[in-house]
Amino acid sequence: MDGIAGGAPFTMEDGFSAPKLFSQGYSYTYDDVIFLPHYIDFPTDAVSLSSKLSTNLTLSVPCVSSPMDTVTESSMATSMAALGAIGFIHSNNSPSHQASLVRSAKSHRLPFTSDLVFLSPSDSILSADDFASSPCIFVTQSGTRHSKLLGIVSLSDWQALPDKSEARRVSDYMKKSPIHSLPNGSQLEDVSAYLAAENLDFVPLVRRHQDDEEEIVNVVTSAELERIKGFPKLGLPTVGPDGNFMVGASIGTRESDKERLEHLVKAGVNAVILDSSQGNSIYQLEMIKYVKRAYPELDLIGGNVVTMYQAQNLIQAGVDGLRVGMGSGSICTTQEVCAVGRGQATAVYKVSSIAEQSGVPVIADGGISNSGHIVKALVLGASTVMMGSFLAGSTEAPGTYQYQGSIRVKKYRGMGSLEAMTKGSDARYLGDTSKLKIAQGVVGAVADKGSILKFVPYTMQAVKQGFQDLGASSLQSAHELLRSGVLRLEVRTGAAQVEGGIHGLVYYAKKSF
Ligand code: 5GP
Repeated sequence: MDGIAGGAPFTMEDGFSAPKLFSQGYSYTYDDVIFLPHYIDFPTDAVSLSSKLSTNLTLSVPCVSSPMDTVTESSMATSMAALGAIGFIHSNNSPSHQASLVRSAKSHRLPFTSDLVFLSPSDSILSADDFASSPCIFVTQSGTRHSKLLGIVSLSDWQALPDKSEARRVSDYMKKSPIHSLPNGSQLEDVSAYLAAENLDFVPLVRRHQDDEEEIVNVVTSAELERIKGFPKLGLPTVGPDGNFMVGASIGTRESDKERLEHLVKAGVNAVILDSSQGNSIYQLEMIKYVKRAYPELDLIGGNVVTMYQAQNLIQAGVDGLRVGMGSGSICTTQEVCAVGRGQATAVYKVSSIAEQSGVPVIADGGISNSGHIVKALVLGASTVMMGSFLAGSTEAPGTYQYQGSIRVKKYRGMGSLEAMTKGSDARYLGDTSKLKIAQGVVGAVADKGSILKFVPYTMQAVKQGFQDLGASSLQSAHELLRSGVLRLEVRTGAAQVEGGIHGLVYYAKKSF
């Protein structure tokens, strides 16, 4: 290794180069390996984490939310795009429902999570629970989103009613048009100023269609706005050429998935992932060829793969990105059940080495539980990281919080768990043709982590610090340093891993930011 700072150059073997470390016959996880620090000549804020998701799409934040039914629906996808990352909507649902989730995620321009409630004039409101997901209820002609807005009922208006019986129709007491609203493309600052100027608690954001009809796509409360303004700023939002947020979605490799894809394309999906635990199959190769023929403009990500051979096959078939990981997911039992898979650090390094030669970006999928794992995945060659458990406890993940003793948790389940497969995700594990379903995942729960709008920016700041320690001011520079052998690594012994964690304390409180 060449010494650079402070003194005469020297040459000395210290640590291992990546090719040497990863060619010893071991399957290394992220925790098994550690980078040796290099040389810092720039501040943390000079680190750019901008990166390719796939051949034609770039993200300012190299994070992807996993297409799992306890991780990514529209709220997650909207917020990921608002951060500069991207979400992939899961396919454990009907094609039309999945397409409607894509549409909903793309229709927003601000990361709010309200689930809008629509009623028709003859409906009644029976309980305050009807306002649980939104500060107000919209009354439209047909009781659906795509219909003329007639009035609005806020929780406080409803609570003030002396008679709340079923006989009272919403049309009797709703606040009628004109109703304050703002265009859907409004910026955070403009919405904030409008709420203050009009002394309002909330305002609907509307989109005007060509026929002059208005569609309500969001409702912003002043409380939510204050909360969001307090979050740190991150990169440029992930916006497509149409001016909408970019949103991805997953499909399987069955014949019926061609129809699913058609729905998704009509909904404006920006990238598609072929969801399979072992991607090197005739089914996937044929699907890749079909998709590239039918939708040449659409970025298609194949996988999952963990070997160079698997990767090569998918690259030759024409994928625009590769998803890497088999058995590394936190809810996954594949390695235990099938004896197949690979340690994630080795898988990411090996696949990235071959994918890089064809310019195909790699998504390191699964096994991320802290910012250090993200640094390792990105430096070892990945362009982005895909996360499940890391995001599943957030406000934006589907599902409601529950209490496990005194801890607030959200359900998080493997798509290969029996519970998820019963709903339809068995195609990912090739279980759909088999009468006997074998689980390759579990059902569990993760702790409440608050909003991704807060913890992802902090996490990425930590990732930038890791890059700085390595002397890498970008992903490209990290990959070059690794390839050229300048960056050195070592394997951590069991004791080194203990030493590298918190140890020897009777008590501690861990607060990362
Ligand atoms: P995590 O981020 O929680 O460690 O891992 C998430 C990843 O695990 C997903 O993106 C997906 O690739 C994988 N995965 C999701 N569900 C299952 C499952 O039930 N079994 C297996 N083998 N992998 C799963």
